[in-house]
Amino acid sequence: MVGIYIGRNNKSDTPVTQTKAVAPIQTSSLQSVEKQQFTKEAIVQFWTDHMERTFREELLVGKCPDPIINERCQVLMGMLNERYHKQLAVQMINTFNPLSEWILAGCFVNDEGVPVADLNIPASMRIHENLILTDGPELGEKMFIQTVLTGFLHELDHLAYGFVAKKGHSQEELVYHEKKAWAKTCELTLTPLAARKVSLLGNSERAYLDAWVKSGRDENSLLWDKFIRETYEEARGTGSR
Ligand SMILES: [Zn+2]
Repeated sequence: MVGIYIGRNNKSDTPVTQTKAVAPIQTSSLQSVEKQQFTKEAIVQFWTDHMERTFREELLVGKCPDPIINERCQVLMGMLNERYHKQLAVQMINTFNPLSEWILAGCFVNDEGVPVADLNIPASMRIHENLILTDGPELGEKMFIQTVLTGFLHELDHLAYGFVAKKGHSQEELVYHEKKAWAKTCELTLTPLAARKVSLLGNSERAYLDAWVKSGRDENSLLWDKFIRETYEEARGTGSR
C-alpha cells in the first residue's frame, strides 16, 4: 500500500532497499543506484536532523506534541497489538521507490506476521525541499513534519484495519484497499487536522481530503472510486505495496 504524495511524478529506476527500522539506518545495505541524487551520508544526516526525534522520541513512544496525531497513533497502535500480537516494525527506505520519487511510505505484513511500516527517506527529502521552497524554512518544516506523520498514520490505517493487499496483488485489490484506508485517514486524521484554526495540511493531504468531502464521505461513492483509481493508476501491475 503505497502512500502517494501527490506532486510531480518523476520516474526513477532505483530499486527499493529496505533497512531496519527505528534502529539507525544501516548504510551498508544500500544497493548501488544509477540515479541516486542524494548521497548515503546526506540521507542519514537528513533522518538525524529532520525525522529521527519526531518518530523515535515522540510519535512511537506516545509523546507526539501534536495531540490529534498522538491520540490517533495510540489508538492505531492498540489496534495493531490486538490484530497482530507483534510489535510494529518501522523501516527506513534509503532509495527512491522505482514508481515515483513522491512515494513517501508503505506497509506490509511480513512472513512472520509482523506489521511493517516503511518510510522513504529520499522521498521525504524531496518533499522537504519542496515545502521549504514554497513555504519558507519555519512553516515548511512544520508542514513537512505533519506530512510525514499523516503519511505514516495512513500506513497504520492499512495495517490496523487489515486493508493490506497480498504480494502480487491486482490493481483492483490495490484500489479496494486504498479506498478503505484513505477513508479512515481522511475521516479520522485529516478532518480533525483541517478543522484547526491554523491548518498545516499540505497540497497532497488536502487533495485527498477534498476528494473525500466531495464524495460525501462515502467510501463506496463513485467519485471516491474515481479519485483513488486515478491517484493509484501508475502503481498498476507492479506488485507495489
Ligand atoms: Zn495507502
